[in-house]
Amino acid sequence: MRPAAAVAATTDTDGDGLLDTWETSGYDANADGVVDVDLPAMGASPLHKDLFVETDWMPGLRPAVTVLDRIVSVFAAAPVTNPDGVGGIRIHLDGGSYAGTSAYALGGAGEVPLDTDLSPYVEEIQALRSAHFASARADVFRYMVWADRYNTGCSSGVALGIPADTFVVTMGDSCNWNRTEDRLVGTFVHELGHTLGLRHGGSDNVHYKPNYLSVMNYSFQFGGVPRTSGPAYFGYSDDAHAALDERALVESKGLGATAAGWRTTWYCPRTNAARTSGDAAGGIDWNCGGSVSGTVKADINKSGSTGLLTAQDNWANLSFRGGTVGYGAPLANREEPVWVEVRPGHWRRVPPAALRELTKHDADQLQHGVRP
Ligand SMILES: [Zn+2]
Repeated sequence: MRPAAAVAATTDTDGDGLLDTWETSGYDANADGVVDVDLPAMGASPLHKDLFVETDWMPGLRPAVTVLDRIVSVFAAAPVTNPDGVGGIRIHLDGGSYAGTSAYALGGAGEVPLDTDLSPYVEEIQALRSAHFASARADVFRYMVWADRYNTGCSSGVALGIPADTFVVTMGDSCNWNRTEDRLVGTFVHELGHTLGLRHGGSDNVHYKPNYLSVMNYSFQFGGVPRTSGPAYFGYSDDAHAALDERALVESKGLGATAAGWRTTWYCPRTNAARTSGDAAGGIDWNCGGSVSGTVKADINKSGSTGLLTAQDNWANLSFRGGTVGYGAPLANREEPVWVEVRPGHWRRVPPAALRELTKHDADQLQHGVRP
């Protein structure tokens, strides 16, 4: 490791948005000569990508330590390279002390008061952040709360933008959520993904693309991306699999060779019934016609129309800087407004200030019977 004095003040060697000087000498938020966030003591390295997230919780909603362990594993296995020659992203979760480990005790996390409905959610989540998150951490840490509910809906979570610095997971008792470990891990990684610049369709907001093998895809948020062997995968897509033209799907090709070892979910045209494939590199009966044959036209993501479905390599497109996190001026919220179905047949353009997960998502999940 180079001595701090030799490191230029604006260098970010590993590209994680945290300047080398912060990662070698600590971060001094107010330039008074006193380190406010001791990044090296927390395990940061200027040669390895580091992510920091403070995780607060409402009463009864603090997850088991195994949930945090699994999140750490997802990022450690990321197919990204680092100047130190070791792969993966080191995510530092501040979740307080757990019995038997101090790995998550980074000094800031704690319980916040129960609020059974964060509504209006942007204002109330920002109020939580103001009250419970040290401003000196703002350039370094993202902030989240394991919360109960927001906006009087039953959405699993929301991020305050794409990219951004703040999100919540809202799988509380007000909506009788069955908080399985899979759902908690998948939803945390999903909402964090929004703060890292990722969208439901990769670079766009198109839902349920079968070639987009990521927890950012609603098809896989709660259960992970299934594989032909071993447990499901709760991370981001590691390949921009070939685009699927719904107007001319070659059934024998499936998702193509790059998807070997993965399975995927698609929707039968007309019925919108979900199907899960075998090895996605093998044939897929896209039109649910009973055989894998020919070139077919089919709406396989239940969008109501047929078009070109593109995929994205998420890991290659992370925005480590988001909101106040990272060096330089805060990034503007770049999310465009989206349309949501607030009740059957009634669509509303939601404000660009934040991303909402409710309505259409909820209706879809209820339809599929995976909601409690
Ligand atoms: Zn989302």
